[in-house]
Amino acid sequence: MQIAKSKIDELRAMLENPRRVVILSHTNPDGDAIGSSLAWAEVLKRHGHEVTCIVPNKYAYYLDFMPGIESIVIHKCDESGVAKRAIKEADIIFCLDFHTMTRLDGLGDIIDSNQHAKRVLIDHHLDPSEDFDLMLSYPKASSTCYLVALIVENMYDTESISVSMAENLFVGMMTDTGNFAFSSVTPDLFRIVSVLAATGIDIPAIHNNVYNSFSEGRARLFGYVINRKMRIFHNGTVAHMSLTEDEMRRFWFQQGDSEGFVNYPLTIKKMKMSAMFTQHTDFIRVSLRSRGDIDVNIFAQRYFNGGGHKNAAGGKSFMTMEETIKHYEKCVKEFAGEGML
Ligand code: 5GP
Ligand code: MN
Repeated sequence: MQIAKSKIDELRAMLENPRRVVILSHTNPDGDAIGSSLAWAEVLKRHGHEVTCIVPNKYAYYLDFMPGIESIVIHKCDESGVAKRAIKEADIIFCLDFHTMTRLDGLGDIIDSNQHAKRVLIDHHLDPSEDFDLMLSYPKASSTCYLVALIVENMYDTESISVSMAENLFVGMMTDTGNFAFSSVTPDLFRIVSVLAATGIDIPAIHNNVYNSFSEGRARLFGYVINRKMRIFHNGTVAHMSLTEDEMRRFWFQQGDSEGFVNYPLTIKKMKMSAMFTQHTDFIRVSLRSRGDIDVNIFAQRYFNGGGHKNAAGGKSFMTMEETIKHYEKCVKEFAGEGML
């Protein structure tokens, strides 16, 4: 994949002098959001810029090992107003790994308080909104970390990728590709991965940190959800699962514990599409996954006010759990009726 030279030139011009930079990523930040933010921050700091990374809420605990993660400001826990101040004073606001301001929840309003900062998008989601001065939007890229690696390669060189940057970038590339298994992987991704590997990062350790560092409660919750909550319909090709607040309490739920559950029904041979509904205080989080040509980005946009990628998307429901599930089943029927499933 090539990043347009004109975009790199524009970025270079923007960063010619030391700037006050804010790097933002999305609510419920995942490995790609955190990894791309930290790596981009590190290289910018090294080139003399003042950088603050901000996310709307806390990341999952299994990302705690990522180098530099303690420097990220979590807006929800930011009582001293660091995030607000940094945004207000920023010359450039980078938006990484999301495509619309609605994915920032309450942070969106604070950003609007700074009308002079340049807004730059670095992202791989479909259908980005038009709120940016410079858009590095590449929906075919398998992760934002891959894009950041390419941008660093083009603007500086691969020599400037440190071990900690490589570790952070690897996390995002690995998690957003389902461990390098999705159709989004390309020969060029593996070229970049080999650059990261050559820095000496400990790939088995990273893998263990991300995939084998959960709590006991999470393992038991997983068994419960698959055994008791997975419903399969539409001739065995569509699944859904749900998780209420009461169930979360029973399994000592920590944020991030249900991450990845939605993928599991797709291990069943006939399965085409899977949904997970997770109760939050004011809404139900909807996670969708699909196989092949089934487009859950369209499904999420149409029925759950969301979006994402063709095979992995999400949205929100403001109905009760029961109504949400009924709505999902009805929408699946409609979607199938149009030949989309
Ligand atoms: P997940 O199911 O892992 O939360 O999200 C899967 C994909 O859907 C991610 O790429 C994410 O950016 C996108 N996504 C999740 N929730 C929302 C949402 O509420 N709105 C939009 N537009 N995209 C979402
Ligand atoms: Mn991503």
